[in-house]
Amino acid sequence: MSHARVSTMVNGEPTGVIDVSDRGLQYGDGLFETIAVRHGQPQHWDHHLQRLRRGCERLAITMPPIGQLNDEAQQMSAGLERVVLKLILTRAGSLRGYRADAAVGPNRIWQVFPWPVQPDGHVREGVRVRVCRTRLARQPVLAGLKHLNRLEQVLARAEWQQEYDEGLMLDSDNNVVEGVSSNLFLFSNGTLMTPMLDRCGVEGITRERVLDAARLLSWPVHECRLSLGQLLAADEIFLTNTLIGIWPIRQIDVDPPSTPSHTFAVGPHTRRFREQIDHD
Ligand code: PMP
Repeated sequence: MSHARVSTMVNGEPTGVIDVSDRGLQYGDGLFETIAVRHGQPQHWDHHLQRLRRGCERLAITMPPIGQLNDEAQQMSAGLERVVLKLILTRAGSLRGYRADAAVGPNRIWQVFPWPVQPDGHVREGVRVRVCRTRLARQPVLAGLKHLNRLEQVLARAEWQQEYDEGLMLDSDNNVVEGVSSNLFLFSNGTLMTPMLDRCGVEGITRERVLDAARLLSWPVHECRLSLGQLLAADEIFLTNTLIGIWPIRQIDVDPPSTPSHTFAVGPHTRRFREQIDHD
């Protein structure tokens, strides 16, 4: 099996070319999924399909037939040992202006990327994060969706170079919401807590898997509003996403470099959940 092969496919054709009138490009009118591939198989594929279906329903984009998506995912993953597979689904486009042409089906854009190199220490010893100045806007209509409008994340990611492993994002009411490209969990007195995503944020697949694991372990979970103060008072904190799994947080810088760092231990609860989702 091979490790890296950059390839693209658009609507079943082996091409990286798409019409410039595509609404994904014009308006960010679409959804995407970032999928881990191992041993030629897309991982947690059903979770990705379910999220895509929920996104299509909420944005009134026609969901492509499941059989077609299954076949294309298999085709893109075949023979690849460990890669990142990305699917972008856009509302295509033909009219000028915001009004959508309901008769036009979505465009399916597939890309394969090499698996990113991640230091082993991140999983065992935890990561350093900063609290970003860029805030997430409240938009309940889009909250939870993995839609193509990612400018808030682009601006937040521009706030550091290599000195941090991830950034944390607050909303305009000072609630902690998520990482720039990850979801956030904390343990406080043994209770697992994660921010509600009803106003902004992305409902990550890995977040769902952690919530499933909590149910399986009969572990108490609260989805709630979380302040920065509550986060900094937590016993353990971790981040989740498809490509990292679970990363414990060992250091948070709130306003670098003027205030001292807050440090955290990689605790037993985080390790327990990591073991659980490694085997789900
Ligand atoms: N939030 C944001 C903003 C993200 O970009 C991502 C990953 N793309 C996540 C959360 C985590 O989602 P997942 O677990 O599906 O990778």
